Amino acid sequence: MSNILVFIEQREGIILPASFQLLGLAADLAGQTGGEAQACIVGSGVGALADKTAAYGAKKVYLVDDAEFASYRSAAYATALGAAIGAASPTAVLLPTSSMGRDLSGRIAAKKRAALAVDCTEVTVDGSDFSVSKTMYAGKFVAKFKLAGDKLKVIAVRSNAYAAKDPQNGVSAVTENVSVSLGDVEKKVAFKEMVQTSSGIKDVTEADIIVSGGRPLKSEENFEKVVFPLAQELDAAVGASRAACDAGYQPHSRQVGLTGKVVTPALYIACGIDGAIQHLAGMRGSKFIVAVNTKKEAPIFNVATYGCVADLFDMVPLITEEVQRLKG
Ligand SMILES: Cc1cc2nc3c(=O)[nH]c(=O)nc-3n(C[C@H](O)[C@H](O)[C@H](O)COP(=O)(O)OP(=O)(O)OC[C@H]3O[C@@H](n4cnc5c(N)ncnc54)[C@H](O)[C@@H]3O)c2cc1C
Repeated sequence: MSNILVFIEQREGIILPASFQLLGLAADLAGQTGGEAQACIVGSGVGALADKTAAYGAKKVYLVDDAEFASYRSAAYATALGAAIGAASPTAVLLPTSSMGRDLSGRIAAKKRAALAVDCTEVTVDGSDFSVSKTMYAGKFVAKFKLAGDKLKVIAVRSNAYAAKDPQNGVSAVTENVSVSLGDVEKKVAFKEMVQTSSGIKDVTEADIIVSGGRPLKSEENFEKVVFPLAQELDAAVGASRAACDAGYQPHSRQVGLTGKVVTPALYIACGIDGAIQHLAGMRGSKFIVAVNTKKEAPIFNVATYGCVADLFDMVPLITEEVQRLKG
């Protein structure tokens, strides 16, 4: 059987949307090779999440459920995922290209001597060979790689590269508990503290919608006055250009682009962002791009689905008001 195992990324019992997207992809790929989509959930008290993954297509769920795994530590989670791979014997493991997915995919590939590809935007299968696409040179090229042969393949897929399938209600998961005992090495790294950002605003790599601001915002206060209200109305993350981050208007954790984060949300709203090639490298894969810019020749308009030649300080509050009105 050519089963495909999806590592389900969850934090405090909330599953990352990218994991649901990967379950749909796994079901499609496994369907072509006579296998099935399976899921691996690692955490503490995560048994209740199994039915959710079943609703999105997991035919079997491997659970590593222990207080040891309450918080993410790469060596411990790699051991847990490794044990699930041992139990499931999949042909491939899919993970999201999140911080956790990047960290875990390299470690698990090394552990299992598997073929590895990260940040893939497309995955296809032909027998036991997998092909993946990756963007290169700031998004100017798409390179295709073949992961051939019988070895396990570990593939990290970019968020929103695939849409999640509609969940089926009332599906109960078939589960298998995998017990894992951590060795001295894994136990040496202890989790101490999680420091949450105070704003409660989502991370750009996890959001379906991003409202991003550029240098003309001129200050952190203006971000708070103009960009954050729209982001809050849309339940969106706040992003920024490098110029805005370098000037200290936003932390670099929000920088989108070549030297920032690569994002592929359903909607990216660029407020006063010129559209330099290095910025486009991080967001041109967004499904819809809305740009607000005073200069009609700004390169951002070349990739924008909808463009608005206007001053962001006038236009963005109007969009916020309109969203509020539509939400009633
Ligand atoms: C190696 C390297 C890596 C880089 N990596 C990144 C990266 O990861 N991310 C990134 O973003 N950049 C990156 N850059 C920088 C990039 O080249 C640009 O300098 C940067 O993106 C410009 O930011 P900006 O668009 O906010 O500012 P600007 O270039 O100053 O553009 C501002 C835009 O806003 C418009 N505008 C002005 N006033 C208003 C207003 N009131 N209302 C509406 N529009 C207005 C202007 O017409 C202009 O188009 C990198 C550069 C290098 C060399």
